[in-house]
Amino acid sequence: MHNNIEIYLQALNSANSGIIITDNTQPDNPIIYCNKAFEIITGYSHNEIIGHNCRFLQQEDRNQEERQIIKDCISQEKECKVEIRNYKKNGTLFWNELYISPVRNSDNEVTHFIGVQNDITERKRAENELREEKLSVEKKIKLRTKELVDKEAFLSSIIQTVRESLLVLDNDYKVLSANTHFLNSFKVTNEDTVGKLLFELGNHQWDIPSLKDLLTKILPTNNPVIDYEVEHTFPFIGRKIMLLNAYRIEFEGQYKDRILIAIEDITDKKELDRRKDDFLSIASHELKTPLTTIKGLVQLLQRMMPENSTERYISTLDKISIHVDRLNELINGLLDTSKIQSGNIEIHKEPFEIDKILKDTIETLSISHPKHNIKLEGITKTTIMGDDLQVTQVINNLISNAVKYSPNSKNIDIYANKVGSYVKISIKDYGVGINNQDKAKIFNRFFRAGNIQKKFPGLGIGLYISHEIIANHNGTLWVESEPGQGSTFSFTLPIMKTNDNE
Ligand code: ADP
Repeated sequence: MHNNIEIYLQALNSANSGIIITDNTQPDNPIIYCNKAFEIITGYSHNEIIGHNCRFLQQEDRNQEERQIIKDCISQEKECKVEIRNYKKNGTLFWNELYISPVRNSDNEVTHFIGVQNDITERKRAENELREEKLSVEKKIKLRTKELVDKEAFLSSIIQTVRESLLVLDNDYKVLSANTHFLNSFKVTNEDTVGKLLFELGNHQWDIPSLKDLLTKILPTNNPVIDYEVEHTFPFIGRKIMLLNAYRIEFEGQYKDRILIAIEDITDKKELDRRKDDFLSIASHELKTPLTTIKGLVQLLQRMMPENSTERYISTLDKISIHVDRLNELINGLLDTSKIQSGNIEIHKEPFEIDKILKDTIETLSISHPKHNIKLEGITKTTIMGDDLQVTQVINNLISNAVKYSPNSKNIDIYANKVGSYVKISIKDYGVGINNQDKAKIFNRFFRAGNIQKKFPGLGIGLYISHEIIANHNGTLWVESEPGQGSTFSFTLPIMKTNDNE
């Protein structure tokens, strides 16, 4: 039969943990037993271990707090578990997870201590790495948060300072913030505004179905709402016209489904525009009356011309007549503009042949601009339903512009074509051209490109009127142009019928 002790010893020797037994009855608690694993973990051999106190494993590293814990546990004869830095025989550090437990005899005196050790260096390293990683991530997050806070503070200070009313909404159209200008302009408080639905603000001034419709499309489509006009009697500030622009905003991945609404009070500007229009309309009416009289009188003088009038006398009267006509044209232009503005332009629609008026207009203009070579290519053989005088006016405007804005090239090419159910007329010049920025504005009232203002006379209304006339005839007028290369103005008009069998 095996001795029981031997079996236990064999078991101890096959354990993975280092196991020692110390004798507490001897001075300095020497080690009296160690298993195989202890030799392997520490690198010391059996006979280098037996008889020593465990502290030799600490080598020079003698200031660890854990030593005190071990000391206390031995003097108080208790169990304890510590993680302590120990050193192998060759000096390499290993983390020792040490479990110490007292062994008592029948008189309850502690005779031995058992120490169980595990090399947890690997675990410690992984733990350390994890801790460091966590620290560095935390540091990064802190830094990033600070950056974001700084940026947000920066943005919000801009938002507070701008002289435009701004609202930020969440994706349910609830107001998240309103800037000072908004609160001051609408004479409301933050409490009246923040946290409320946009459509419930004030006396439901923004609760307009078409506006709602546009706003609900911003987030899914990213299409902003541009220049939406709202005329309304607002609480506290009365009847006003507001211009609304709304955009989807994103803040560095922090949030993206927010809407920024900018509101501009354009009441005064509108009023000013209206007064300007009224003035123009009255002034041109007033100017027209005496001018009509002058024109009549000049015609009378021409008719009453004495037989023996000198050449100089005749040509002077002719010149007066030409200038009176020119003045009349300018005033008519201004009158047309104010009529268009007030929606009072009349169209007398009747069928007319576009080829004919094109040919006639070119003929007339060729006489008054003999230095230019105005050439027509193509024939449409179509009848258009519309106001021939107005369409003539458009052709006149476009060819006159082509002549005016190409002082250094004499060719003007005009193309007439059928395009589907439309006629397309293009007027091409090789003159100063128009830059991209101006292209977008030349059809606006009173707009004149900056580079030509002083060189060429004009009021900046011809294209505006032409554009409106073509639009009223269900066609479009547009321009293609390169600065310095020339411009091509084209318009389309729907065909009423083709005259092929003439
Ligand atoms: P105006 O000629 O009296 O200025 P228009 O309304 O006819 O007014 O034209 C507006 C502006 O468009 C002009 O001032 C000019 O800057 C530009 N423009 C019009 N036609 C041409 C053209 N053929 N070539 C270059 N610029 C043009």
